[in-house]
Amino acid sequence: MDSSTVDGGASLCSPGTDAKKRRVSYFFDPYIGDYYYGQGHPMKPHRIRIAHHLVCQYRLHHYMELCKPLPATAENIGWFHSPDYVDFLSSVSPETLHEDYDSSHINRFNVGSDCPVFDGLFDFCRASAGGSLGAAAKLNSKEADIAINWAGGLHHAKKSAASGFCYVNDIVLGILELLKAHKRVLYVDIDVHHGDGVEEAFYTTDRVMTVSFHKFGDFFPGTGHIKDIGVGTGKYYALNAPLNDGIDDESFRQVFRPVIQKVMEVYQPEAVVLQCGADSLAGDRLGFFNLSGKGHADCVRFLRSFNVPLMLVGGGGYTIRNVARCWCYETAVAVGVEVSNKLPDNEYSGYFAPDYTLNVEPLPMENKNPPWFLEKIRNMLLEQLSHLPHVPSVPFQMTPSITEIPEKREEDMDERPKPGIWLTEDYGSDTDEEEKSK
Ligand SMILES: [Zn+2]
Repeated sequence: MDSSTVDGGASLCSPGTDAKKRRVSYFFDPYIGDYYYGQGHPMKPHRIRIAHHLVCQYRLHHYMELCKPLPATAENIGWFHSPDYVDFLSSVSPETLHEDYDSSHINRFNVGSDCPVFDGLFDFCRASAGGSLGAAAKLNSKEADIAINWAGGLHHAKKSAASGFCYVNDIVLGILELLKAHKRVLYVDIDVHHGDGVEEAFYTTDRVMTVSFHKFGDFFPGTGHIKDIGVGTGKYYALNAPLNDGIDDESFRQVFRPVIQKVMEVYQPEAVVLQCGADSLAGDRLGFFNLSGKGHADCVRFLRSFNVPLMLVGGGGYTIRNVARCWCYETAVAVGVEVSNKLPDNEYSGYFAPDYTLNVEPLPMENKNPPWFLEKIRNMLLEQLSHLPHVPSVPFQMTPSITEIPEKREEDMDERPKPGIWLTEDYGSDTDEEEKSK
């Protein structure tokens, strides 16, 4: 794919608070949509190809630099992940998994039904992580104001284990890259699931602040309690907003905007990473929130308005027509171009029947987040933020500390339940989603 920057003449709209133009770099690997987790598995990289196709059909590529990511190397991945886990990922294949590895390895690295070993797994990880590393490099060199990698956002991956459909934590790697040129990085996560892998990686440092908005209570991964605020030097540099089913745009905004406004004021990050997991949209196959596409994108719009270097990454999202709509629209918000709600002609129009529209509409469902509850969450988070000094003093040269979680004894590990993000319950047929793929 050619790399080109084109300033276009289409009308720039006033997308909310700030219509000022931004230089946007957009990372896309043309083969990303070919990776396949397996029959019936809800995670479908094909959704990124559909999103990209819509981006191009809306001509949004004329307003940004298109970049093909350099695949991350094993060495890059080893900046966060442990050597034995990187070796495993780089050498495992579906054919040889059980020949080359015994069940203790398979168990330790947590591959299996949620995180299957599929063909090309390591190349998929390299492409996803390469996009986030490339996006960080564009922001570090000040060649871009906003850098996008919809193939990234795999926030559950741990230092030595896969989790929740994620194998390599591209976000942690991207943030480590950003820390080479930025004193403080803010990470914001609007996936319906808690951003546990990223929080854990930076739980003991004040150089990265993590803020996650997620469904909490009997839901994967089970972490992200409001009282989890970081430890040691990182105390008060982790924030969690636990929310309930059915949250709508207005309710979400009532927590998101005041909390993020205060975070920007007191923490003054030099770069921001926003994980745009689309499973918080209405009608997601695994999620239970009720955000519209516009409500979801309001988070992008709001963070963009601060004019701080911004990385946008993908994440969850299991109703793939809505994922494609959401990330296409958020690309439009990033470049500051108003797009029609009527979809342009595209190769995947079968996905978008019968309305052929861009916006994801909310559904009639109960919002289990009453006003008193939202106020309580907001006030608790603002109270936690009041403990932060204005702009923490951190030495610029400090190597970011990566949390060392004490190893559990093997027998404890074996006993530990491993809750699945995707239980083997019947979530309804996905053949309409799956087999429509070309
Ligand atoms: Zn998710």
